Amino acid sequence: MNLDHLNTKQREAALHTEGPLLILAGAGSGKTATMTHRIAYLIEQGMSPYKILAVTFTNKAAAEMRQRVEKLVGNCSGMWILTFHSMSLRMLREHYEEAGYERNFVVYDTVDQKALLKNILKEQNIDVKEYPINYISAIISKEKEADRGPEEYKQQQEFNLRSKIIYNVYKEYQKQLKKNNAMDFDDLLRNTLHLLRNYPSILEEYQRRFSYIMVDEYQDTNHIQYQIIRLLAKAHQNLCVVGDDDQCIYEWRGADIRNILDFEKDFPSAKVIKLEQNYRSCGNILEAAHSVIRNNRGRKDKKLWTDQDKGHKIVYSRLSNDKEEASYIAREIALLEGPGRDYDQFAILYRTNAQSRNFEDALRRARIPYQILSGFSFYERKETKDMISYMRLVVNPRDEIAFLRVINEPKRGIGAKTVEKLTALANIRNESLLDTISDEEVIAGLPAKARDSVRQMAETINLCRSEKENLRISDIYDNLLVRTGYMKSLEEQHTQEADARIENLLDFKSFIYDFEKEKSILNEPATLEEFLEKVATDGDADKYETESGKVTLMTLHSAKGLEFPVVFMPGMEDGLFPGHRSIDSEEKLEEERRLCYVGMTRARERLFLTSAEYRVLYGNGDFTRESIFMRELDSRLLDSAGDAVYVPRRSDNNRLGISTGKSDGFNEPEYRPYDPLQYAKKAVKSNAMLGDKEFSEGDKVEHGKFGPGLVLETGEKTITVVFDSVGIKKLAKGMAPLKKL
Ligand code: ATP
Ligand code: MG
Repeated sequence: MNLDHLNTKQREAALHTEGPLLILAGAGSGKTATMTHRIAYLIEQGMSPYKILAVTFTNKAAAEMRQRVEKLVGNCSGMWILTFHSMSLRMLREHYEEAGYERNFVVYDTVDQKALLKNILKEQNIDVKEYPINYISAIISKEKEADRGPEEYKQQQEFNLRSKIIYNVYKEYQKQLKKNNAMDFDDLLRNTLHLLRNYPSILEEYQRRFSYIMVDEYQDTNHIQYQIIRLLAKAHQNLCVVGDDDQCIYEWRGADIRNILDFEKDFPSAKVIKLEQNYRSCGNILEAAHSVIRNNRGRKDKKLWTDQDKGHKIVYSRLSNDKEEASYIAREIALLEGPGRDYDQFAILYRTNAQSRNFEDALRRARIPYQILSGFSFYERKETKDMISYMRLVVNPRDEIAFLRVINEPKRGIGAKTVEKLTALANIRNESLLDTISDEEVIAGLPAKARDSVRQMAETINLCRSEKENLRISDIYDNLLVRTGYMKSLEEQHTQEADARIENLLDFKSFIYDFEKEKSILNEPATLEEFLEKVATDGDADKYETESGKVTLMTLHSAKGLEFPVVFMPGMEDGLFPGHRSIDSEEKLEEERRLCYVGMTRARERLFLTSAEYRVLYGNGDFTRESIFMRELDSRLLDSAGDAVYVPRRSDNNRLGISTGKSDGFNEPEYRPYDPLQYAKKAVKSNAMLGDKEFSEGDKVEHGKFGPGLVLETGEKTITVVFDSVGIKKLAKGMAPLKKL
């Protein structure tokens, strides 16, 4: 194993495999790189990858780490490199019974969580103006992070009206989750901790399995995550944690900086290694970042050095308004892009997603390709969420939130009253809502115009359910999309918005294809359960592609651990960054300052900071003041050339690749030889309706999942086929993706 390109300290850390180890070091000092080499080294020493657990911050980081390790030592399947949430999910899947859930429990994301809370508040007649859903969900989340259930919450609080209301909501919320066989993100962690705590045999199983445990970005672990790790590492103490107290940016989500500062207390025999050389950034960038972060009082002082050149100074520009700011950045990118500097080397890192719109507009106008990582936008699109809900019902018919989301989506003439009645009936009968509407007698009692479409919905889901094992995920998706009437209702609207939704749905299908392809390359089955899990646990940085030829737009938070040659940080204004809530709280201000440090240290060669004199945000416009971080930043490192308010010049247009009148879209050729959207639409439909054809004995057929086969027998509802690949299968007529050959 070649550890030669690590420096002495890094090598020491990679070789220290037995016993607790803390690598505490600043940004870009090679912490993640060291961890990767350490894993590779262990494997090369003969350690089975199966015995290694590495926890990273995003799925993306996990995938990248696996790739790098495999590059060093070859295949390492069986190794758990994943996030805390995916790790918890796996453990809970393996031991769902002990955890108190049924098989195929579902994970509720923030949108589901809020939908559920909304229902509860309504039922309990609580005024959402006084108790906003976000407020309540934040409290519940905090309680869970502190490992307190509703009863513990009650005990701990002073008894008053407010705490009583929250207690009642919290209790009902947990009850409903359980009833729906669901958990939220906080439950994932908390249930895992309880599982390990309450079942010594299970704990022992994982302790024995994971002989070596590593955690990246350790500064951002919360209390529960910390305890999970501590339990797992208790027996052998082979725990290596890697972090930087200056980069703790999730205190608001319960990350506890003390976890890193107290590590030596909890593991007295811990070896501590500090890395001081930064390999990422040019000298000026590093200096500038340091001049900001050193204003934090609650930190261990450390300073990084680099043997790289000083490089360019940091460019700071104050523009007249937020639109100008965006155009300025687009122009700078157009100027800098060229041989050896592709678009994917640029990143625009902003404080909040609400800032992204201006950049999208400006980049589009300048014809600069970009990828945007805005929160969970992809999954939070209404139509994607709807389809995911349908798919969730296929996996778990008891998923009430999913049911309520789609029962009248598309419009089936089911109003709130009917839903109420159905819910009451399902409760009395102690069955799922899906079962209730699968009952002909119930259907007969529905408003006349709703009957057919509700029947069709129930039939489709039930059929997909029973045929799940015989269908690819994409087949299930097509069937749901077409047979529930979802696609049709969009098509009938003939609006641009509906067309855009259809486009998104087809886009989502290619996402499903990708998942299936990936699985088939790994030679693993692509199950709907696993797909939905991926959807539920994918963080925002997970869809990020490197070398995409596109500029990356993302929040500062999701940029953690990444690096880019050129970084833009817009919105350096008090009230935005630091946010207005942090201005009068020293603690919050320090967290914002760490975020600023994280942002600046993403840059390798060039760093641009900008602010706008006038900004419109969330519909409100106001004059701004430069960020306190700008005042802290050592001004000697700033290139003040950019200080002037940018005045656009006419002649700039062509040189900068910004659209001239000609290419504004007005004179674009109308002619479109090939419309992939129409094509994809057709494919979805024909796939969903394939099964309707008649087959007879002896027909040679091709099945979407099982490949070629021969029809043995056709019944009224079933068709029996012998496949070359899997032998004899009985399939549901009208659903099996079969083609006559
Ligand atoms: P962050 O705190 O931002 O997560 P980090 O400490 O994890 O940063 P890495 O991402 O591991 O830092 O490394 C930063 C950059 O430095 C990477 O491009 C990496 O390849 C490079 N690097 C790390 N160690 C060395 C080394 N010994 N020699 C040359 N380059 C190195
Ligand atoms: Mg790192």
